Amino acid sequence: MTIQVNGESIFTKETANVKMAEVIECPDCAFEFGVIHEQSDRKGLYTCPNCEAANYEALYLQQQKEIREAADLHLKAILELQRIQSLVSKVDDSVHRPIGVALVELEEKFQKIHDEWSK
Ligand SMILES: [Zn+2]
Repeated sequence: MTIQVNGESIFTKETANVKMAEVIECPDCAFEFGVIHEQSDRKGLYTCPNCEAANYEALYLQQQKEIREAADLHLKAILELQRIQSLVSKVDDSVHRPIGVALVELEEKFQKIHDEWSK
């Protein structure tokens, strides 16, 4: 039986079934696991659970970085457009209005990216 410690299910050798098993070592990271854990659809082939987890982690971090960069770019564009809008508003209403439309669109996009980011 496992016990819960800080959201982790842990157990000791004494409380688990100890079996004699053939163990395979990942050639990339040296993580060891039972040869019984071959790919279900491709017999005799293995994917390392440790490398898989590391790949997912790296992918997740990269996605988070890209979302943050996109949010930063949108925010910069919004601030720049607001600055231009304030300069133009006194001079030319025909330019001021399309800038206002673009600003609303950018702010909506920024909100979507921000919502995605803070999930
Ligand atoms: Zn590995």
